[in-house]
Amino acid sequence: MQHPISGGQLIGFSESRAGQSHFTSHNPDTGKPNPWTFLEATREEADQAMALAAAAAAPYASLSGAQRAVFLEAIASGLESGADQVVPLYTAESGLPEGRARGELGRTVGQLRSFAALAREGSWVAARLEPALPDRQPMPRPDLRKCLVPLGPVVVFGASNFPLAFSTAGGDTASALAAGCPVVVKGHPLHPATGEWVARVMLQAARESEMPEGVFSHLQGSTHALGEQLVMHPATAAVGFTGSRAGGLALARLAENREVPIPVFAEMGSINPVLLLPPALEEGSAWPAAYAQSVTLGTGQFCTNPGLLLGLEGPALDRFRRELAQAMSALPNSCMLDAGIAARYRQIREALLGQPGVEEIEGPAAPEEVNRVPATVAAVSGRDFLGNPGLQEEAFGPFTLVVGCADASELEKVIAALEGQLTGSVLGDTEAFRTYRPAIEALQAKVGRLLFNGVPTGVEVCPSMHHGGPFPATTDSRYTSVGTDAILRWARPVSFQNAPAEFLPPALRDENPLGIWRMVNGKQTRESLSS
Ligand code: NAP
Repeated sequence: MQHPISGGQLIGFSESRAGQSHFTSHNPDTGKPNPWTFLEATREEADQAMALAAAAAAPYASLSGAQRAVFLEAIASGLESGADQVVPLYTAESGLPEGRARGELGRTVGQLRSFAALAREGSWVAARLEPALPDRQPMPRPDLRKCLVPLGPVVVFGASNFPLAFSTAGGDTASALAAGCPVVVKGHPLHPATGEWVARVMLQAARESEMPEGVFSHLQGSTHALGEQLVMHPATAAVGFTGSRAGGLALARLAENREVPIPVFAEMGSINPVLLLPPALEEGSAWPAAYAQSVTLGTGQFCTNPGLLLGLEGPALDRFRRELAQAMSALPNSCMLDAGIAARYRQIREALLGQPGVEEIEGPAAPEEVNRVPATVAAVSGRDFLGNPGLQEEAFGPFTLVVGCADASELEKVIAALEGQLTGSVLGDTEAFRTYRPAIEALQAKVGRLLFNGVPTGVEVCPSMHHGGPFPATTDSRYTSVGTDAILRWARPVSFQNAPAEFLPPALRDENPLGIWRMVNGKQTRESLSS
């Protein structure tokens, strides 16, 4: 089915066009404006979307996991069958190639289906039952049962660097809908046409699967005012965000200072340190070529981009740096997502290269075309790095800083001085891993994912993935934004004590009508209590 791009707000099952101000997206590859115009959502429109989400919260929460799964699967099928319509919008708004667009669409569809499967299976609600022991001495035990219940309306901020997988129908939205929470998306202003198209697919799926109106709304805006209003709205129960540290922290502070504070699950990026142990630096090592690819993948605009490489100073590290810069020179230059993001990269790159002791390794020449930036390898000593916390700033783009440490003890100090990160990688062999165990353990304390002999870019979507990490990589290191555990951000536990059966959620009833795995008196079982 063809979906129009009309530039309005999609609020419940209606389109609204109350706004007076407009904005447009640009094609980053050419710098020229795209042909669509979008209205900025008004305060009244945002209130209307939140009111509908609030009204939908109880009816949507009361649907079975199987009913929510039908909705999520209908979205997945709608995206899949409309691939040829959305791919041109995606490439025109992001400058990313068609292959990436199709790959990201596949990932988005896969995420939706995996959350549908999770909702349908149902055991994610972590049901715990301790039936009453009326004869227990010296005191009887009451009947206690606990499970997770949905939080309520969730506001999702689409991410600029993943117009599909972390945006309108991305992982935050899919996990919140699977948990039973209505979602209001604040679309990212760099890809409003892609966002609107996806939102139309979602609303068609909502209608076809008979979801309550307000289960999903999509608002467009290019100023902070809309996002601030949504975070502060009394009906908002939680927020999902992927973007800059400044943005994530600003929204988290707003949420903390509300009359009723709410959680903001913000993923704010990181520099993803890599430990280059001696075997990785040997002549003929394949790692410089592999890391040249990883640093420049998607023009470096990945939250898992390896922006910090740590090794022991010497001729081997020197060769590694040069080979990395040479390999980067041989790769084609691609555009950044937007002129503003490109300008910010240039500014931070210049600032980092201007710091005491930082030296640029000769690499790719500065490109001339619009929205292109120089891919960069820089070097600094461990001592200078330790003396300058500003060197940990993320240059969002194809930039990596190689830190040459005097010895293993300085390497451990550098790791101990790092901020929280999404990932940490270690390159070497078994013997080197054992020799440098203290450094590896120090790295584990800083990260949400520890990788051995790999590149951090490329995040597998599966239950064992953790895409999170200690602050400031995220606002809450206990939760992931990728993989099925992402659902846990949008639910809270409730205990029911001596509750009559009709007041219990189906997950906690004696007969186990959902057939889910439950912990009964400390043992995992799918048995009914009444059998
Ligand atoms: P961003 O500036 O953080 O914006 C993300 C979303 O949050 C946008 O919808 C933006 O809305 C909103 N927002 C930001 N600050 C806000 C505030 N103070 N109050 C209310 N809403 C706010 O991120 P971006 O536009 O994607 O890219 C800018 C920079 O973010 C990049 O240069 C990069 O450093 C970083 N980034 C990091 C990651 C990551 O790895 N986690 C991913 C993408 C980008 P409006 O713009 O409409 O106000």
